[in-house]
Amino acid sequence: MDPGRPAADALGVWQGRVVGLDEEIRDLPARRVLDLAGATVLPGFVDPHVHLAWSGLKSRTADVSPSRSAGEILAVVRRAAEAATGAWVDVVGYDQRPLGRHLTAAELDAAGGGRRVIVTHDSGHSCVVSSAVLALLPDGVAHSDGVLVESGMAAVRALRMPYRTAELRTAIARAAAVCVSEGVTSCAEAGIGAGLIAHSPVEAEPYQQLLAAGELPLRVQLMVAAAALRPVAGAPDDGPLHAVDLGLRTGFGGERLGLGALKVFADGGMMARTAALTEPYEGLDHGGQLYADEADPVRTVVDGHLAGWQLAIHAIGDRAVDVALDALAEAHRARPRPAARHRIEHAGLVRPDQLPRFRELAVTAVVQPSFLWYFGDDYARLMGPGRAPWLYRGQSFLDHGVALAASSDRPVTPGAPLRAVGFLARRLSASGRPVGPDEAMTVDNALRAYTVGGARACGWEDRVGTLAPGRCADWVVLPADPAELSLDAVGELPVRETWVAGEPVHES
Ligand SMILES: [Zn+2]
Repeated sequence: MDPGRPAADALGVWQGRVVGLDEEIRDLPARRVLDLAGATVLPGFVDPHVHLAWSGLKSRTADVSPSRSAGEILAVVRRAAEAATGAWVDVVGYDQRPLGRHLTAAELDAAGGGRRVIVTHDSGHSCVVSSAVLALLPDGVAHSDGVLVESGMAAVRALRMPYRTAELRTAIARAAAVCVSEGVTSCAEAGIGAGLIAHSPVEAEPYQQLLAAGELPLRVQLMVAAAALRPVAGAPDDGPLHAVDLGLRTGFGGERLGLGALKVFADGGMMARTAALTEPYEGLDHGGQLYADEADPVRTVVDGHLAGWQLAIHAIGDRAVDVALDALAEAHRARPRPAARHRIEHAGLVRPDQLPRFRELAVTAVVQPSFLWYFGDDYARLMGPGRAPWLYRGQSFLDHGVALAASSDRPVTPGAPLRAVGFLARRLSASGRPVGPDEAMTVDNALRAYTVGGARACGWEDRVGTLAPGRCADWVVLPADPAELSLDAVGELPVRETWVAGEPVHES
């Protein structure tokens, strides 16, 4: 992935770093020599948008996916309520689409025996709760018969918090093990501390514990949820006074664990039909909604920018992308920061007129190709033929000179990078339906989006994403070169080994 030297046959490692390639190392003594017998080595994948705690918890929580009928879901809720030891009954994997309607609070009351039941939607943007939960919510939190979306769901999360640090530590370790088994050697956790996907106000603590114990097998960057910022009294000349404690921000930390971007929500998600569109969803009478947090997202973006944060703005629908781009333009007007490297997370529906603006504002698009592998049929129907080609673009970003990073958003979908690379090159959903075929890119460019692109999105391009002298010795061993396979085989290619800092962290 180093354009100056795209291929080599031998690679030397010392102290967790690449020291040289081929002739640079041939005459050096080595304590150990590994012969990979013609296998392909690529830089470890960088997944710049994951949810490790959520992934790890989800894998051990009562799961109703695939949601086929209300009766089946309620049977799972009943069993989970009977097995629950604490006050809360957590159920995940919910999706109203196959039901044609939402579950109701009354149904959860009956199935959950009156307990505090939270059935979380697969998108992470909505949930259905029992009356016992509704009774705890502050006045003014809107719900429809127990269904809460976006900021309403964040209010439920606030009630549910905090998860125990020990529980989070186990969950994160479990998710990290899955990441390295899929070849991911660096990732960014997309928002800790508060808001929609938070688990604890001290959510960095389990990561620090794992790091100290040598049990964090990959590099992790923690994004901070904007809702975790609070007014801080600094010196009057220091500008905006919204900060996390001690004034920590993007860039703080070490090579294995550090702080990343400030995560801001502009809208919801397509699965929950809350992504904000300029035109209504096909077959629905609305175009989603902007995220109505307690704070104005534009204000949050500008304040975060002025305070030196990198911003990662969640914007899925084209209307939300407008909001994000406008806010970033306003931020740069207030104080130009050409190296800020702001990101738009998802960029799920981008109109042609919006593409040049990404480039003008130097915004990185952090897309999730696997969304279209798993949900492409639904999304394409929901957008109609006019807008379906704008979904989770690939090649258009490259054509417009926009920095592109691919990511998983696990556990919204399974996170295997090679599955996503295969999709980016082929643009076929799991059922074989073309989704935006004009956006297909080469396998090489798709791999670039999952290595160099992800590293750049995290500000880590001097460390990871390429294998070159001085870079971290993070790589995957594959049984074949993805660029030489047929396109339908790329997504099925297994990861044989994963190495981080010159040490094996996964062997299949
Ligand atoms: Zn996410």
